Amino acid sequence: MSKRDYYEVLGVSKSATADELKKSYRKLAMKYHPDKNPDDKEAEEKFKEAAEAYDVLSNEQKRAQYDRFGHAGMGASGGFGGGGGMNMEDIFSQFGDIFGQGSPFEGFFGGGGRRTERGRGQRGSNIRVKVKLNFEEIANGVQKKIKVKKHVACDACHGSGAKDSSSYQTCSTCHGQGSVRKVTNTFLGQMATTQACPTCEGEGKIITAKCTKCRGEGRVYSEEVISIDIPAGVTEGIQLSMNGKGNAGVRGGYAGDLLITVEEVEHQDLRREGIDVIHELYLNIADAALGVSVEVPTITGKAKIKIPKGTQSGKLFRLQGKGFPNINGYGRGDEIVEVKVYTPTELSSEEESLLEKLRDSPNFNPGSVKEKKGNGSFFDFFK
Ligand SMILES: [Zn+2]
Ligand SMILES: [Zn+2]
Repeated sequence: MSKRDYYEVLGVSKSATADELKKSYRKLAMKYHPDKNPDDKEAEEKFKEAAEAYDVLSNEQKRAQYDRFGHAGMGASGGFGGGGGMNMEDIFSQFGDIFGQGSPFEGFFGGGGRRTERGRGQRGSNIRVKVKLNFEEIANGVQKKIKVKKHVACDACHGSGAKDSSSYQTCSTCHGQGSVRKVTNTFLGQMATTQACPTCEGEGKIITAKCTKCRGEGRVYSEEVISIDIPAGVTEGIQLSMNGKGNAGVRGGYAGDLLITVEEVEHQDLRREGIDVIHELYLNIADAALGVSVEVPTITGKAKIKIPKGTQSGKLFRLQGKGFPNINGYGRGDEIVEVKVYTPTELSSEEESLLEKLRDSPNFNPGSVKEKKGNGSFFDFFK
């Protein structure tokens, strides 16, 4: 039986581009796919024929050779180990990309397997912890030492899981490769994938005598005190991560990460507003009217401020640089002191009679306040 012309097989012209070849091949491969044509010898032959044609024409060198010499030019070096034709495994492993990528067949081709690096065990999992920080710690940055319960590398075997250096043998399933090719029957027919060797879990070797301390796992459950450097200016909910400080991996596998979530502890006198802090300063009527020197709490201690006489409720004072640093490293917020004039809710008879005397006094009458606007209300302040 004479071989059909490869271009004819794929139904393309001699000048077909790589893209056209691919498209055409994909169409044929789908049409004659063994799973769509069970027990159909003819379809299988067509499927193989298309794959062979594509194998040659999609390769620049082979295509040039074919163009010059035809089938005779392919000889023993032509694609498929010398005229024997392609087997299904070759087809699927070689042209996986044709079927993969966004098609319903994605995932069946090319790799898969477990995320295990050859010769190393499984990666350890991440650990999440919360760290509570007060305002001062946030403003200055702080080093926190926390005790974390986790898997740590076994010190008896240095994480290898083996009793000693002679307790190994090369895995006979994968011959030390760590991976095996697996041919599976899917609805698309036979497919070859490379995956981690099930016997040695990708490690290429098998432990013949296990470490007695970790029972061959290479890690033990323990605890570790970890120092975490918290940068200044962090905010509630922010997540910091320390690579490799999570659970140790199995038999020398990479450790997971330690993920630290910041929690702010509320301050009893201050409220955070971005990088600024707000303090509500309650003044009695006399202090507000006469002026007074007061101490206000700040993030790191106290500060003195002078309240001028005639200060209205709602007046804001800004203490420059007494806020939080910007986490990006530049700029610093302020502390904003908001005056609240306290109105007494209970009065002795003496206090009452004093106030009664002042009630009608002209300077106690707020009638003129409107003209003195712009006295620094919260709104004016942030404009
Ligand atoms: Zn193996
Ligand atoms: Zn051990």
